[in-house]
Amino acid sequence: MLLDALQARELFKLALERRFAVLAVNVDSPAAITDCLEAARRTQAPIILEASLWQLNGHSFGAGDALTGMARFIAQLAVLAASKRYGNVPVVYHTDHIKGPQTLEILSAAIRGLPVKFGETEARLRASTLSLDSSELSEAENIATINQLCQVAAETGVEVTLEMEAGVDEGLTPLEVAERLLGSVEREHPGKVYLWAPGVGTRHGLGEQSAFSADAVAQHQAFASELTGRPIGIVLHGSSGLSQASLQAAVQAGVCKVNWSSESLLVRSRAAQEYYATHAAELEPAHPRWKAAAMDDGLQSYIAQRYVPVVMERIRLLGGSGMATLLLERLGVSA
Ligand SMILES: [Zn+2]
Repeated sequence: MLLDALQARELFKLALERRFAVLAVNVDSPAAITDCLEAARRTQAPIILEASLWQLNGHSFGAGDALTGMARFIAQLAVLAASKRYGNVPVVYHTDHIKGPQTLEILSAAIRGLPVKFGETEARLRASTLSLDSSELSEAENIATINQLCQVAAETGVEVTLEMEAGVDEGLTPLEVAERLLGSVEREHPGKVYLWAPGVGTRHGLGEQSAFSADAVAQHQAFASELTGRPIGIVLHGSSGLSQASLQAAVQAGVCKVNWSSESLLVRSRAAQEYYATHAAELEPAHPRWKAAAMDDGLQSYIAQRYVPVVMERIRLLGGSGMATLLLERLGVSA
């Protein structure tokens, strides 16, 4: 079940209440989308799938056009999420790391809905939740962009659920920054930001994460919730190199969305590397199993067998197992 903006808010509220975090996997291919849904199905967990600008532009989705890429990503997800197999998996489509001159155009389209036509019928594909990559923006630009997105939603007559970020790779974000950023948006457009991604000592990539501070998470969670008058969940960027103990401490301190990218990519690329190294004979056209080995299904099934258990383990570590049922009950959807 693909969640909309309001249903996603319920997910984040539930996560904070029950102290679990939703795994947010940054996926770069249709096969990875299927694998993540499979891992969520087997653990009965909600899951977030997100893509960055370069993936929307990449060959597997937009082939050079980010808007086409986003439409294709959401369409794939919508079809799978409505299928019998994955109908009970609550899934959020989130826009991750969108930056540069196209930011406003792409995110506005994600709010208004990307039109997909089939004969006389037109569907509009919307993101469940949104964020933008503020790493190259000033505070004023970050605030202005978030406010513009709220304005687009108001003009379109739709709800929007936002993640706002600040200096996620730059050490610990001072609470004054949270006050300026969240406070400014809250005064203009109250009730739209539900996720806050301050710097808490982690960095994107595979390096070690000794600077992580669970105390910073707890302080930001309490501060942001007090400032806005509603529960605000903290988002952890750069979780790949973090120890299990730190991840669990982060969740206890108020992290409700854990972005996972580098390590996920490494598991998939290592499996692909292994597949080609161990299937050289089958990949020769004279081999009786050549077609099965050469088709995308050969490679992707091999990767899935190795990747799905790792995603399941990550979901369990963050406390997400079994939470799908609870959320569906709360949404009034019978599982
Ligand atoms: Zn990130």
